Amino acid sequence: MTATPQKFDFDNSYARDLAGFYAEFQGAVAPAPEVLLVNADLAKSLGLDPNALKSSAEALSGSKAPEGATPLAMAYAGHQFGGFSPELGDGRALLLGEILDTNGNRFDLHLKGSGRTPFSRGGDGKAVLGPVLREYLMGEAMHALGIPTTRALAATTTGENVHREGPKKGAVLARIAASHLRVGTFQFFAARNEWDKVRQLANYAIARHDPDLIDTDDKYLTFLTRVADRQAALVANWLHVGFVHGVMNTDNVTISGETIDYGPCAFIDAYDPKAVFSSIDRNGRYAFGNQPVIAQWNLARLAETLLPLIDPKDDDNASALATDVIEGFIGRYTQVWLQGMRAKIGLSSIEEADADLFNDLFTAMEGQDVDYTRFFRALAQAALANPAPVADMFKDKIAITPWLCQWAERLMRDPAEPTDRAAAMDKINPIYIPRNHLVEEALAAAENDDMGPFNALLDVLSAPFTKRDGLDKYALPAPSDFGPFKTFCGT
Ligand code: AMP
Ligand code: MG
Repeated sequence: MTATPQKFDFDNSYARDLAGFYAEFQGAVAPAPEVLLVNADLAKSLGLDPNALKSSAEALSGSKAPEGATPLAMAYAGHQFGGFSPELGDGRALLLGEILDTNGNRFDLHLKGSGRTPFSRGGDGKAVLGPVLREYLMGEAMHALGIPTTRALAATTTGENVHREGPKKGAVLARIAASHLRVGTFQFFAARNEWDKVRQLANYAIARHDPDLIDTDDKYLTFLTRVADRQAALVANWLHVGFVHGVMNTDNVTISGETIDYGPCAFIDAYDPKAVFSSIDRNGRYAFGNQPVIAQWNLARLAETLLPLIDPKDDDNASALATDVIEGFIGRYTQVWLQGMRAKIGLSSIEEADADLFNDLFTAMEGQDVDYTRFFRALAQAALANPAPVADMFKDKIAITPWLCQWAERLMRDPAEPTDRAAAMDKINPIYIPRNHLVEEALAAAENDDMGPFNALLDVLSAPFTKRDGLDKYALPAPSDFGPFKTFCGT
């Protein structure tokens, strides 16, 4: 028996408070929409019923807006690979409405792939199954790793073929986010010199993400600092787990500090600051190790839009204040990164020279084909006086010995008991990450109507820190015949 469709208790602040920041629009009618996946845990946390969502293909494909929705395409601009596009916007997406979760927190329910909008330019407004499932899987993996992210609520096939390189199955992702405010949203209005709108948007963003600032002096400067701090923490998190976002354009940088837009993203195998997976990132702008500097660059673009708000009377003062925040970003980022790295190697205390320990580690790893994720996981064994699993990963098995000695000396000055230390390390160094070959295999099967590998991988990634029997293949790097991995923006 099919359940009755989900009723939503929307409270649409964006539509209500920000007229002129979007185009009201309806999704395209899908010929035969079917809900393929529902994220039951997320649904429940939002007070929604997973069974009712399974019967809500019309709403979740954008074919028919549910009662109370105010479907709209948001306006935004963005620097894409360094070049400014003054008008991007939701070209294939709609904000359906906002939902308050069981704790009263506000979330956007947003559809991606729901058809053309006034922002579509030459695009077809559609999305296809592979990339929709990729975003679903990557977002859930990141969430389980404890990294702020937008999350998939559902994936719905449309029953329509969409033309990419050949016909592909059309699909729509229903996505939940703390908001879809981006650096590019601010840029859209700043580029038009619509400063009243920038102020209105900043006030909205502050009310939504930093409400404690509402009645404070210097709130726009503090807001910039908050966004910078959230991005510093986010990018540090990415580097801790070896994540390469791949397309850190300013339209893909959230004000909330959540990871958004899983396009050509991937996890590194061996540690390599130059690692790039996206076929379109030819100059390595968004390479693994470049992400902090790019985040800083993106934040400078946000700062530019806030200058007239920071000090309306004195441009030079506004500039000096904002510059301080932006220049402080790398220091702030480094502190967060170091703190996380200390935890990864089992340190609960802080020493000035710890940074050297990591530099020396990465030097020792160079050219040794050591899997980044597996190394840190195995290091908990070394903390229990069993260094063999770590040493065995190195081509030259004694290459890591000097570093292990340096680390052991540092551990002697750290208060934790070895068993507690190893247990703490296992709680933050994942065994299971979305390895590129497994993701590709799962998506290829899904495109052939076999959801088995996808569902199995999704389940494994939902508990990345807990070793489970029978899952060994999920903890291994790609077999050598998988070859160098490239992701394509065929979204
Ligand atoms: P993304 O690469 O998903 O971050 O998208 C960048 C911009 O291109 C956004 O304005 C999207 O709405 C737009 N876009 C991407 N794909 C399509 C498409 N198939 N049809 C229309 N607009 C698109
Ligand atoms: Mg985007």
